[in-house]
Amino acid sequence: MNNIDLNDLLIKISNYPEEERKEIQKAYDFAQVLHEGQVRQSGEAYITHPLNVAYILADMKADKDTICAGLLHDTLEDTNTTKEEIAELFNKEIASLVDGVTKISKMNFSSKQEMNLANTRKIITSLTEDVRIIIIKLADRLHNMRTLEFKSEFKQKENALETMEIFVPLAYYIGAYRLKSELEDLSLRYLRPAIYFKIAEKKERFESDSNNFLYEMLSKIKTILESKSIPNEIKVRTKNIYGIYKRISEENLKISNIHDLFALKIMVDEIDNCYRTLGIVHSLYHPINDRFKDYISNPKTNMYQSLHTTVFGPKEHLVQTQIRTFDMDKVASFGLTAYWDINESAARDIMQKELREKYQFFKSLVAINSMFNDNKAFVNQVKTEIFTDNVYVYTSKGEIIELPKGSTLIDFAYRLNPDLGNIMVDGIVNDEHVPVDYKLKNKDRVKIITNDFSFGPRLEWLDKAQTSYAKKRIKEFYCR
Ligand code: MN
Repeated sequence: MNNIDLNDLLIKISNYPEEERKEIQKAYDFAQVLHEGQVRQSGEAYITHPLNVAYILADMKADKDTICAGLLHDTLEDTNTTKEEIAELFNKEIASLVDGVTKISKMNFSSKQEMNLANTRKIITSLTEDVRIIIIKLADRLHNMRTLEFKSEFKQKENALETMEIFVPLAYYIGAYRLKSELEDLSLRYLRPAIYFKIAEKKERFESDSNNFLYEMLSKIKTILESKSIPNEIKVRTKNIYGIYKRISEENLKISNIHDLFALKIMVDEIDNCYRTLGIVHSLYHPINDRFKDYISNPKTNMYQSLHTTVFGPKEHLVQTQIRTFDMDKVASFGLTAYWDINESAARDIMQKELREKYQFFKSLVAINSMFNDNKAFVNQVKTEIFTDNVYVYTSKGEIIELPKGSTLIDFAYRLNPDLGNIMVDGIVNDEHVPVDYKLKNKDRVKIITNDFSFGPRLEWLDKAQTSYAKKRIKEFYCR
């Protein structure tokens, strides 16, 4: 959907209240006049870009202010309007969203100049004030990636790399999987075109070969669910091309050996019925026992919730089955942005509240911000702590804790509780005693052993800890 016009946007928002539609139309008119005469590299009028961004946002059922900001998002940077003028013509909220998006565009992660570092810091911390800024920026990046073919090869690769390094993790952190997978595929297409097209072709062949048995499963399960009057919807989903690429390259797998290449997505009305459905699926098809995951009672750190079970489907095909409620499915596809759809009137407040209380990415940002006075150290820490791979481990109560790769028991202890590290002596991981500098691995079950008479953290722990929060707590212990 690339050649859309104002009318498509108006249709998309046709169920918004009339005065909201009027304001969106007004934002379009204003942006169009301001961008008059500017063209994109594709030769199209510039306004097509903000229009598409607004359309992507409207598709997420974003609120009126966010859609207006999407239409206006490039006006501060590229035209002669000001934040004050936007505030006057529209409202303060829209003006500050546009301002926030403009600032992120200027963000330069690799710069070493103090001014840039200070600016980068301001931007990163502003993300924690209104998550809608990230969402608009993601929509902006998505449309730019969709139209990347018109840029030079150098620019294509540069943008694709930046997308993988910054925007894919951001999409992941707010749980916007649908956006994330499209950004990944578009990036791979420009970074490794030959591999991208090879996998795309194989994937298509596999999909048509597998149609029959997937729909056989789908209808069998559906028949039983209907007979038990469980409201449901079932869909077939295939892994995205980048996801397949990652498996093939990291685990040296053949495409035919990827156990979750296909998934049946089963959505039902209530949590109870998720577990009933699981029972139905397991009674029809044998599960692989160690592939079962209950992300409903143990949500991922970005609040993804679902039951996953891989079963032996027809003709020995392995098929992953994902079972969740309709609302969980919205969160699984759209992350935080799903609240626009689930609870429109209070969406904004719910989004910020959820972000504050449940999303670990947000907590880490806030912690790092409070810890570093020096801008360079702050930016570096964000890079190593937030934009790198993580390990996921369990507490003894079964909660999932996310830490940057390379983290040790020391990091775990301080993450769990600000004082726990001060009285820890060692720990138990998967039923075995380990020292404090044990490096955590995915799925470790971790319990910290404490002793109220311990001498407190040793100074050498500073080198053994990875997260800034743990280091900060150790230093504080010695500076009391
Ligand atoms: Mn833009």
